[in-house]
Amino acid sequence: MSKLSIFPVSVKVTGKSILIVGGGIEALNKARLALKTEARVRVVAAKFDADFSALDLERRVGSVAAADLEAAALVFVAMDDDEERDHAIALAHRAGVPVNVVDQPDLCDFYTPAIVDRAPISVAISSEGAAPVLARAVRAQIESLLSPNIGALAALAGQLRRRVESLIAAGPARRRFYEALVGSMRVETALEQGAPAARRAALRLLNEHAGQAAQTGLVSLVGAGPGAEDLLTIRAQRLLQQADVIVFDQLVPERVVEMGRRDARRISVGKSKGRHSVSQSEINALLVSLGNQNLNVVRLKSGDPMIFGRAHEELDALKAAGIAYQIVPGVTSALAAAADSATPVTLRGVASGVVFATAHGADDGELHHWAALAQAGVTLGLYMGKSVMARTAAELLAHGMAASVPVGVVVNAGRSDRFTGLTSLGDMAASDFDLPDGPAIFFIGESVAKGEWQQLLAHADAQQKVA
Ligand code: SAH
Repeated sequence: MSKLSIFPVSVKVTGKSILIVGGGIEALNKARLALKTEARVRVVAAKFDADFSALDLERRVGSVAAADLEAAALVFVAMDDDEERDHAIALAHRAGVPVNVVDQPDLCDFYTPAIVDRAPISVAISSEGAAPVLARAVRAQIESLLSPNIGALAALAGQLRRRVESLIAAGPARRRFYEALVGSMRVETALEQGAPAARRAALRLLNEHAGQAAQTGLVSLVGAGPGAEDLLTIRAQRLLQQADVIVFDQLVPERVVEMGRRDARRISVGKSKGRHSVSQSEINALLVSLGNQNLNVVRLKSGDPMIFGRAHEELDALKAAGIAYQIVPGVTSALAAAADSATPVTLRGVASGVVFATAHGADDGELHHWAALAQAGVTLGLYMGKSVMARTAAELLAHGMAASVPVGVVVNAGRSDRFTGLTSLGDMAASDFDLPDGPAIFFIGESVAKGEWQQLLAHADAQQKVA
């Protein structure tokens, strides 16, 4: 097995300084890095080429001297002049301070890792100087795994330490509390509202662990996006990883549900062929009952939970039962459809806005209203229209829209098997098109003509008329 040539450590810099020798862009980058810490930062250079003026540090023009190394914890050398460079290294070594020489691994006493900074938590990724680009790529992956609040959480744990020690005996019980604190979605959610709210939530958790029972369930209404795993938000992914139970709709593809914690219970409440579909009130009751069992529940909804998701009914039930909840937005299917078809649903001088509406169940008054909006230059984005498209188009024509208005349809938006087709309101009204299987979004309005569409949809007789 190959061994590390380095030993990762964390160097204490409070009350000390970091010396940077050099005045170019590399030196500036190291200065920025050093300023993330509490160290005093001092830069010495014969000439300052880069613009250091915005940074809060000490600058000195000249050659590096022994006095510059006083109380120095680390030295970075970033300059081209070999003689000056060797002089700086020699001075540092004489003072017993480790040196990093930028881009010269052979001359380095230490390397600078790629750093994930969630003070007081930090993650350092090192490739022993061999592949800094790879180290940065690893850093990007770790960044996306860690909650932005992890540092605040660590600080909170630090503040509570005395209190925890007085309330919970050392050993497994105390460890369980800290594990719960780090994994607590409720505390994490409270962190978004600021330190005092987080402290309250953490104290509540502490009291529970100290023996006073209380309710800890949390139901998260999470937008799953249009169906591709990588159109989930990072927050949604994190919550899925922490879930005890995942309750999902039929429109959420299995791949997305699979992204949840391996041991999480998965409950499908979607309609599917040959199976009794769960009614909305049954779903509400299910969420309340899971929340009452003190579970972390992720209610996964396709697209965005607040758009045609019946979210308010679930929220009402949770509120009535006093169960904590949160809402995590997702990419709604109409926006995925706009991206798939490169359609600017708002467009200066063409479309002053966009309306998301449901075609299914729309009454005459609503259709009248949309026709008026469309005529005033608003793009219509219609959900749930697949089975009623011809009738919807006919009614929009009856309310005065022109047969020439372009209509775009996107089936399976945001997924690899997406289909996009362009037609006109007149053609659409003639009779239903035979579209691929899957959910569909319809865009109606002049901005649709600016999109990129795979197929022109026209009826045979209409084509003949054109020919
Ligand atoms: N909350 C969801 C909408 C649920 S209503 C969202 O924000 O997207 C169900 C309707 O959404 C479907 O009838 C269809 O019109 C639309 N829909 C959902 N997923 C879709 C997809 N991947 N492609 C196209 N339309 C989709």
